[in-house]
Amino acid sequence: MKAPLTILVIALGASLSACGDAGNPGNGANRNDAAAYDAAAYDVPARDAAADASARFADEAAMLRWLREEEKLAHDVYVALQGRSMIFTNIAASEQSHTEAVKTLLDRYGIADPSAGRAAGSFADPALQSLHDTLVARGRASSVAALQVGAEIEELDIADIREMRGVAMRADVRATLDTLERGSRNHLRAFWRQLQMAGASYTPQHLDAAEFRAIAESASEAGP
Ligand code: MN
Ligand code: MN
Repeated sequence: MKAPLTILVIALGASLSACGDAGNPGNGANRNDAAAYDAAAYDVPARDAAADASARFADEAAMLRWLREEEKLAHDVYVALQGRSMIFTNIAASEQSHTEAVKTLLDRYGIADPSAGRAAGSFADPALQSLHDTLVARGRASSVAALQVGAEIEELDIADIREMRGVAMRADVRATLDTLERGSRNHLRAFWRQLQMAGASYTPQHLDAAEFRAIAESASEAGP
């Protein structure tokens, strides 16, 4: 997840600089050729990153089905880890409202609900099932491990929601993504504070270290 995103950002930067060079009449032909070559060299990983995202976010419907289960995953993992810290009870309630907000969108657009009839800890998508099982097992090891699992889930949610903006077209879908990402930023701050109080370390898994720190160490935002 982290590597393709990084490559995509580099590729976008290369494309932008190539456009800038091409638009500058002061550049010689060799300079333009070099810029074009660099941009072309980065095109391949950029397409791979897009293909990876398209498997989950092929269109708005596929993206919403994924998001419905991803928010349920956060809820179900936090409920499973409730015994480790009081923080999980509050955040689990927030995740329940998040997954229900996505259910509202599924219903509005006649998209089948992947979570219909599923108990806590059960997922239609095998990748999310595996992720749930792995994170619950890891979090049950200790209170610090549980808080680290919380931080990782929030990081992943933020990274995925940012990718989802590439396919989300409807205004109500984009507004829901905004609400869910803001919630995740606040949850990340809460888990980070708890980890600091416990004297524990945390290595970001899905966001750049600088981006993680910028979110984790900024003030909480108002809203659900
Ligand atoms: Mn959430
Ligand atoms: Mn969250």
